[in-house]
Amino acid sequence: MSIELSALPFDKKSLAPYISEETIDFHYGRHHQTYVNNLNQLLVGKDLLQKPLIDIVRSSEGAIFNNAAQIWNHDFYWRSLQSGSSDKEMSAELTAAINATFGSIEKFKEQFTKTALGLFGSGWVWLVKDVAGGLAIVSTSNAGTPITAGQIPLFTCDVWEHAYYIDYRNARAKYLEAFWHIVNWKFASDNF
Ligand code: MN
Repeated sequence: MSIELSALPFDKKSLAPYISEETIDFHYGRHHQTYVNNLNQLLVGKDLLQKPLIDIVRSSEGAIFNNAAQIWNHDFYWRSLQSGSSDKEMSAELTAAINATFGSIEKFKEQFTKTALGLFGSGWVWLVKDVAGGLAIVSTSNAGTPITAGQIPLFTCDVWEHAYYIDYRNARAKYLEAFWHIVNWKFASDNF
């Protein structure tokens, strides 16, 4: 058995003009694929290879954790995106929770964007349901993932430079602006 690269939940051309096909080819076809290849190499002959990916993430550290968590995070990121995003797809429950926690959807987006722009180096920004059931915006560095902290992620934004360098060069703010056009609110609502 081996870890497989999950299929993309959308056509790789469909996120343009916000994320180009070329970015998907590199981000999914090279970066994400490389984490899968690395993990399979690292787990050759190990019992851990028989476990579900999420269990590998939760029970490992070092290079195995880094590659396993990056696979899990990327699977989750692709599912967080869609073409033709609309705030209207947000469930009434999630809308109410965001309004109650952040004041409004706009304020929530501002705070999420600010967190993404403030993250030094490589990492991820997430909307999570925390252990007490409340909403929170959290950032994780490198391969860090909220699932090891008992939080339930609702959606994520990959803020490694490889996520936006082809389309936006170093302009993370432009990528964030584009990101809001392709968030899969249905996915986020289902996770909530
Ligand atoms: Mn990435």
